[in-house]
Amino acid sequence: MEQPFRVRRSPIHGNGVFATADIPAGTELIEYKGRLITRAKADELYDEMYSGHTFLFALDDHWIIDGNTGGNAARWINHSCAPNCIPYLHENPRDPLKSRVIIETLRDVRKGEELSYDYGISFDVPYTKRLKKIWACRCGAPNCTGTMLTPPDHERNTLP
Ligand SMILES: [Zn+2]
Repeated sequence: MEQPFRVRRSPIHGNGVFATADIPAGTELIEYKGRLITRAKADELYDEMYSGHTFLFALDDHWIIDGNTGGNAARWINHSCAPNCIPYLHENPRDPLKSRVIIETLRDVRKGEELSYDYGISFDVPYTKRLKKIWACRCGAPNCTGTMLTPPDHERNTLP
């Protein structure tokens, strides 16, 4: 089956992935592919915190899918504060390393719309102006927070 999306330049950031057909909610679009590396290895290879973009997808606390190597179009899907897609972890109970991440539409998507999901990026450091600027969000949603960063877990429930 032909994929109902293609990669092209995005007004949000760099390349993006755009629907080439109307896609109903709940459609499995694409697996986030890449080589599996440990978090320690990712830290060693990439200065992610100050890069402002990422081709890494955290599978769990220990394992990361590295879309820089063996990645597919999924790595070009941008972050949005009002995403139309969501990544689901399909766990393999016998072998966690065979778990897969599939990106699915969260709602009906119209032809021409850019696909996006919430990256849920958080770092366990204070969010300085500089860091927020590096991770600036230009998704254009009315509820855009202006940054791709979400509060660290321990801060998430303290908002009013
Ligand atoms: Zn935004």
